[in-house]
Amino acid sequence: MKSVRIFSHGGADVLTPIDLELPPPSKEQVRVKIELAGVNFIDVYHRRGQYPLHLSDGTGSGIGIEGIGRTPDGHRIFWLNALGSYAQEINLFAKDITALPKTSLANEEILPLLCQGLTAHYLVDSAFRVEQGQWALVTAAAGGVGLLLTQLLKIRGANVIALASTSKRAVLAKEHGADLAGTYRELEELTAKATGGAGVDVVFDSVGKDYFDICLSSLTSSGMYVLYGAASGPVPPFDLMRLNSKSLAIRRPTLATYTATEAERIRRLTDLITLAEGKLLRYPRTKIFSLSEVKSAHQLIESRSYTGKIGIDPWKI
Ligand code: NDP
Repeated sequence: MKSVRIFSHGGADVLTPIDLELPPPSKEQVRVKIELAGVNFIDVYHRRGQYPLHLSDGTGSGIGIEGIGRTPDGHRIFWLNALGSYAQEINLFAKDITALPKTSLANEEILPLLCQGLTAHYLVDSAFRVEQGQWALVTAAAGGVGLLLTQLLKIRGANVIALASTSKRAVLAKEHGADLAGTYRELEELTAKATGGAGVDVVFDSVGKDYFDICLSSLTSSGMYVLYGAASGPVPPFDLMRLNSKSLAIRRPTLATYTATEAERIRRLTDLITLAEGKLLRYPRTKIFSLSEVKSAHQLIESRSYTGKIGIDPWKI
């Protein structure tokens, strides 16, 4: 079957499309035919070695963690955390497989609701339970998670300051409901204008290193910093006393914690599907690449010029 492997960490060039023989599934596994795999920023962290993959034995590693596919008995299922998803087939542990809730949405409309949508959902619902009238600051707000997060925050009645790298991207976040939007350089001005100098109740930041200090300063007393990504690099070691003067808190959450049970995965995804079917969530259809175009897919997600979801159709020629 066709698949993509990497044999060393590095730039998009290390992504290697190859034909390989998939070993038979173990007793705990099921062979799944992949219909559409998701490209996520975590794949870039894996590729770069920021989250290192096991590569030392020379056989390389699969890449890609998310997908929609069919079991041998024809059930439509999804998974969120199985390496080797950029491929035509994968052996999945039964515990990682979740049946897709009934929906009229096509695969390319469901894919944005998986890792990206479920992340936005747990961020506002569980990592910090956002309440009506609170102020939230969102970085990378024009990205895939960012646009969904902005909309879910508005649905919960929060006020949103959306930040992005260019004015054009900030406008996009504004069009998706943000109360105020601007570039990272405008962060202090926007926060002061919105909260009268008091600061925001919560920061949702996936950029990490580049704007960590300035985002931390934007919090009000007892505010919460939810750091859920590191697109610009990891935040360096941190002196906890920096939280003391305003009694701040920092959470560093991961999707796995909040989708640990099948019931939780289905509850969150059903919420998102209901919103999407009711046209209460807006997002572009997945932009689809073939396995042989995988380098372009990674270059696009790293380009900072794209918004929405990127997918790989392993059967596309
Ligand atoms: P995005 O579409 O949001 O792409 C990443 C965005 O990060 C870019 O669009 C860009 O927006 C911004 N960015 C800032 N600095 C850089 C940089 N140096 N290089 C590249 N991009 C940069 O991706 P996703 O929606 O797929 O994911 C968003 C974030 O959420 C990622 O950081 C990912 O790791 C994280 N995530 C975390 C999870 C968790 O549970 N902890 C689960 C899933 C995703 P701009 O140019 O406007 O700044």
